[in-house]
Amino acid sequence: MFDQKLRNMLQRYGLRATTQRMVILDYLMSHKTHPTAEMIHADLQSISLATIYNTLEKLVDTGLVIVIDSNDDKRHFDYYGEPHYHIINQKTHEIIDANNFDVQPLLDAARKASGLNISGYHIELYGIDPKDTK
Ligand SMILES: [Zn+2]
Repeated sequence: MFDQKLRNMLQRYGLRATTQRMVILDYLMSHKTHPTAEMIHADLQSISLATIYNTLEKLVDTGLVIVIDSNDDKRHFDYYGEPHYHIINQKTHEIIDANNFDVQPLLDAARKASGLNISGYHIELYGIDPKDTK
């Protein structure tokens, strides 16, 4: 039986809490692997790939889930209810999570530059392993 927490979270983000949405959101919250739709489908075979795609699009529209492009021609999905930033290994395309950085100065600078109240962010940094540059 699903947690009331998942139901509440979907509703707070303006989505009806269908079973499929709860299953896929729960999957993303418990897998920090930045999976593709195909990877999710491999683990949740009872849900069609088309439904997984449609559900992911809905979740992305709300901002609860984001898409990360790690330059491997695949769309990787990530639960983003707890904001963090990503570091992408340019050689292996590995996506690394990090949250050891205070983004507030950046958000303040962005507000100053644009006049907008900053409502969210998604930061991707790219890097190369020093061992791979020799
Ligand atoms: Zn992440």
